[in-house]
Amino acid sequence: MQELEERIQSEGTVKEGDVLKVDAFLNHQCDVRLFDRMGAAWAEHFAGKKIDKILTIEASGIGIACVAAQHFGNVPVVFAKKAQSINLDGDQYVTSVYSFTKQKEFPVIVSKKYLNAGEHVLLIDDFLANGKALHGLIGLCREAGASVTGIGIAVEKGFQGGGDALRAEGYDVDSLAIVDAMDPATGEITFRH
Ligand code: 5GP
Repeated sequence: MQELEERIQSEGTVKEGDVLKVDAFLNHQCDVRLFDRMGAAWAEHFAGKKIDKILTIEASGIGIACVAAQHFGNVPVVFAKKAQSINLDGDQYVTSVYSFTKQKEFPVIVSKKYLNAGEHVLLIDDFLANGKALHGLIGLCREAGASVTGIGIAVEKGFQGGGDALRAEGYDVDSLAIVDAMDPATGEITFRH
């Protein structure tokens, strides 16, 4: 998606440790109109596929998924929680995921009420790096007996391999921008086309 690539080029910053910061429009301040066009792009890619629900993970995935859902017939959006809370009652699907940015394990939790056997689920997230977060969400779907129809990602860091591994496993991964290289010294960012 050319618009997203241009925003990454002009407003993104490359940090040490393979971290790309896009706080100006995606991860802190949110450009809702951009999210809307991202949703339209995923809807075009996944046109004709059955999607009953969108599953994402807190926090940055929520806004993107909620805006995108409007392009999928306003299907419900469920976000996996990253911490136990007294608000989470009843039975839950729980797995553990290693966070690339926080460099620690954290739980990923969805109430059994909101993920059901036979549902066709679209996974959406802001970033795809090594694929740990997505594998966590895929594991929860598998436990619930739901099937993963596809995966919509805003920014994939292709050089970290998570996206290509998921494609090799047979998942339909639609990343709107794929960064193949980035240099913290020069700030240069190279996209895959
Ligand atoms: P993975 O689990 O694929 O290794 O990493 C994906 C998760 O880590 C995403 O949910 C995202 O929140 C975070 N993440 C990974 N790399 C980056 C990055 O370069 N920038 C930002 N802002 N978040 C990232």
